[in-house]
Amino acid sequence: MLLLLGAIFAAGLVVLLVSFYRNAETYVMKPVNGHLYSSGVLTGGGNVVDRNGVILSKSGDGERVYNSASAIRKALLHTIGDDHGFIATGVQKTFSSELVGYSVFWGVNTSKTGKGNSLKLTLDANVCAAAYEALTGRKGTVGVYNYKTGEMICMVSTPSFDVNSKPADIAADTSGKYDGVYVNKLLNGLYVPGSVFKVVTAVCALENIPNIRSRAFECTGELKTRGGTVICSEVHGTVTFDQALKYSCNSAFAQIAIELGASRLNSTAKRLGLTSSFTVDRVNTATGIFDVSGTTDADLGWAGIGQYTTMANPFAIMTMMGAVANGGTPVQPYFVESVTNSAGMRTYRGGGDKLSNYMGLTTANALQSILRDTVKTYYGESGLEGLEICAKTGTAEVGKDKTPHAWFAGFSQKSDFPYAFVVVVENGGGGYRAAAPVAAKVLRAISK
Ligand SMILES: [Zn+2]
Repeated sequence: MLLLLGAIFAAGLVVLLVSFYRNAETYVMKPVNGHLYSSGVLTGGGNVVDRNGVILSKSGDGERVYNSASAIRKALLHTIGDDHGFIATGVQKTFSSELVGYSVFWGVNTSKTGKGNSLKLTLDANVCAAAYEALTGRKGTVGVYNYKTGEMICMVSTPSFDVNSKPADIAADTSGKYDGVYVNKLLNGLYVPGSVFKVVTAVCALENIPNIRSRAFECTGELKTRGGTVICSEVHGTVTFDQALKYSCNSAFAQIAIELGASRLNSTAKRLGLTSSFTVDRVNTATGIFDVSGTTDADLGWAGIGQYTTMANPFAIMTMMGAVANGGTPVQPYFVESVTNSAGMRTYRGGGDKLSNYMGLTTANALQSILRDTVKTYYGESGLEGLEICAKTGTAEVGKDKTPHAWFAGFSQKSDFPYAFVVVVENGGGGYRAAAPVAAKVLRAISK
C-alpha cells in the first residue's frame, strides 16, 4: 500500500513538473506578475533599439520609457507596441519573454531597472519618423526594405498615437478617426490594389503569351465584354503591351486578363505570394484575396486590373517589387535584427530567407525596363531624381462616392541603393499625386 501511494505521489510530481515546465512562461508573463508589470503595464525588460542603436524603449524607474521624440514614438508604435499589449504585432508582445530575459531554469533575469535581453531592429527610426510625417495625418502605410539583404528600413502604419499620452477617446470614438489604430497595416492590412495589380497580370502575360511584347491592343476608353463593361481612364488608342502597362490602360489589361483566363492568373497570384501569408519575426501577415472562380469575362477583366473582389496586403506587394528588382527571386523582408542576452550572446537572429522563385529573370528584366520607363518618361521623376526608380501606381476604387486609395510601389535600380518600397494612402486620391511624394520623402531620408 505504501509503495502504491509512493508511486502515485511520484507520478503526480512528474505531471506537476511537466506542466510547470510547459506553462511556466505563460505564468511568468501574466500581467499579474508584479516583477514585470505594474497594474498590467510592462515595466521590466531590456532595451529595444533601431539599426543605429537609437533607444526606442527601455525600462526606467518602474515604468517603460520610450524615445524622447514624439514623431519616433508614433512612427514606431506598431513595431514596438504599447504598455498594455493592445498592439499584437509589437515586439514588446511578440518578444516579451526574451525582453524580460525569461528562462525556464533561471526564471526572470531582470528587475524593474531592466536587465533583460536587448532587441535590435533593422528599422531606421528617423526614416520611420519621416514616413510618419510624410503621411500628414492621412491613414495608410509605408514600407521600405533592402531587396538584397531583406532588412526592412521603414515600417509605419497610421493612424497611430503617442504611447506617452494615449488618447482617452479611442474606445468610445465613432468618427472613424482611430479605425485600425491597433493594426500594423503593412503586415496585416488588406486593400483593394487597383492598378498595382497590373504587375501581376503582366508577369502572367510575359510568362504565358510568347509574343506579348509585340502585340497591339485597342483602347476605345472602355471594353465591352461578356457580363459587362470595363472602363478605362481615357481613350488610349492602339497600345503595345509595354505602353499598356506604362499608361495603365484598363481596356488592354482587361483583354489580357480575359485571354489568360482565371486559372493562369490564379496560379501567378499565388506564385507571387499575393494569396499567402508570410511569417515575419513571429507576425503572420494578412492573406490577400484573388478569387476569380466562376466569374464573367467582365469580372475577370476587372480582377486583372486589381478591382472586383481582389485584395492585397502591402507587405506582399513590397516583396513582389523586391522580387522584380532582385532578378525574380525575393529575399524575405524582416525587421528584427537580433536579440542579445545580458551576457552579450545572440539568442535570436532575424530572417532574410530566400523565398522560392517568383518569376523568371527575363520577366523580371522586362518589368524593370517598363517600370523604369514609366517613371522616367510618363510619371516624371519629381522628387525622385537620381534614384533610378522603377514603379507602378494604383488608384484603387473603393466604392461609390469614396475617394480611391492611392498606391505607389516600386524599387530603385541603383546597386548601392537597393531598396524596394510600398506606400498606401487610404482615400488619398490619385496614386501618383498622393502616394509618390510620400515615397520620395522617405527614400530621400534614407539617402541622406
Ligand atoms: Zn485605355
